[in-house]
Amino acid sequence: MVTLADESGPATCARHTLRQLKAFMARQLDRNPSRGEFYPIDLRRIIEDVLHWRLDEVAAIGWTPDLEPILGRCEYSEKRILLATDPMPHKGERAYTVAHEIGHATMHKYTDCEIADHERTRALRRAERRITDPAVALEIEADAFACELLMPEEAVRKQFELVFGHKNVWINSHLARNVLQSHTGKRRATSFAPADAFEVARAAASYAGEAASSLITFFGTSAAATARRLLELGLIY
Ligand SMILES: [Zn+2]
Repeated sequence: MVTLADESGPATCARHTLRQLKAFMARQLDRNPSRGEFYPIDLRRIIEDVLHWRLDEVAAIGWTPDLEPILGRCEYSEKRILLATDPMPHKGERAYTVAHEIGHATMHKYTDCEIADHERTRALRRAERRITDPAVALEIEADAFACELLMPEEAVRKQFELVFGHKNVWINSHLARNVLQSHTGKRRATSFAPADAFEVARAAASYAGEAASSLITFFGTSAAATARRLLELGLIY
């Protein structure tokens, strides 16, 4: 049977995996990797050199009964993660899918008699998330793992401060409006209306500082996933 991660939780598991990656890179480099070398997180290296699994990219994996494209699959028996590239043109979304499957591979133990491969589709995000359903709970754990693996809290806080010169930004501040304006490229007629938090977070995710890369460039993540992370951590509020 497939079981949930132990009580340490998905974020702790992700941080453990990152420490293993850092140790591997330090052995290769004979020193600790710099931030620029460590990020974006090298997921293939985690799969091949930390987990000793395989990552195979294919054009398509298949479809669910609802005709949703399957984006990724974690195959325990083969120790293999499959990534479908055709349904995901953006590398940020591909990275998220691979990180999600790494979550299943590292957290969700199985016994040989009942091997359940995990597939990722977009459906779960849209669906009502009933966490009483064990299968949904596994998916939520894998998502939380992916988020921390690609965008570790401490590193996100640091990069955010490098870009904005503040620990957090209020959505109706002048700074938030400037960021939004530079993102949309025009003065918005609604500039005196309360700003939409997700829209500000999305703009902030793509915003590059004077001397710092934008969060999406630094972490190699999608604007949507990065925006959700900024809101979750209260960096945009
Ligand atoms: Zn999954």
